Amino acid sequence: TGSVALRGVTKVYGQGGNAVLALDRVSLDVTPGEFVCLVGASGCGKSTLLNLVAGLDRASGGAIELGDGVNPGLMFQEPALFPWLTVEANVEVPLKLRGLPRAERRARVAELLRTVHLADFGRRRPHQLSGGMRQRVALARTLALDTPVLLMDEPFGALDAMTRDILHDELERIWSERGLTVLFVTHNVREAARLADRIILLSSRPGRIIWSTRVDVPRPRR
Ligand code: ADP
Ligand code: ADP
Repeated sequence: TGSVALRGVTKVYGQGGNAVLALDRVSLDVTPGEFVCLVGASGCGKSTLLNLVAGLDRASGGAIELGDGVNPGLMFQEPALFPWLTVEANVEVPLKLRGLPRAERRARVAELLRTVHLADFGRRRPHQLSGGMRQRVALARTLALDTPVLLMDEPFGALDAMTRDILHDELERIWSERGLTVLFVTHNVREAARLADRIILLSSRPGRIIWSTRVDVPRPRR
């Protein structure tokens, strides 16, 4: 169910002389469990593509196909946590929205915090955590959606290199354990090579896929 397909997707922002063709007939098939990195210079349409798949915005043309009932989880460079809620309560939000009973919510939150190695930090508030820890909380909250599709827009772009390395390992573990489909935006080609099964390069004006490659370098898998 974790497949993502774009069929000739076009996105135009604005009208008339101010119109920007952000995506021009982009087609892409992502298979369930695949880790795809989208790379390209600023303004080539990476975020636009992700936002369309997330359903935050509508395509001007073409179609986007997701598995039945799939609501992708979206993560940004800024974790966008609720600052007045504890770490536990932040992770619990999607579970509450899904109407899970309290006992089940507590068990799930504990399990998710263990998954991102924050078991001892549930009672803290976001401002008491480092940037890398806040992004772990955001990841746990996204995993709480139980979605097979993760959309990540430069999620580690604001972190220092060492923290980023650690989170790469964590994400890779979680991805392979859960069989997630990941669409990951970065302008850092080394990051893409580290994570991706497939790297897709977009160009701007108009936004198009100009190159794509499978990464065959053996990577550590658990
Ligand atoms: P990237 O994520 O690769 O940096 P974006 O998807 O943000 O690229 O932007 C693609 C193009 O669409 C750029 O030219 C950008 O200026 C334009 N664009 C993005 N969002 C909007 C918007 N809300 N209104 C008008 N133009 C936009
Ligand atoms: P970009 O210029 O595309 O943003 P980065 O400079 O973020 O790319 O990253 C390029 C490489 O340098 C990456 O492998 C990253 O891990 C490493 N890197 C990034 N920031 C630092 C840093 N502050 N100290 C050491 N290495 C870094």
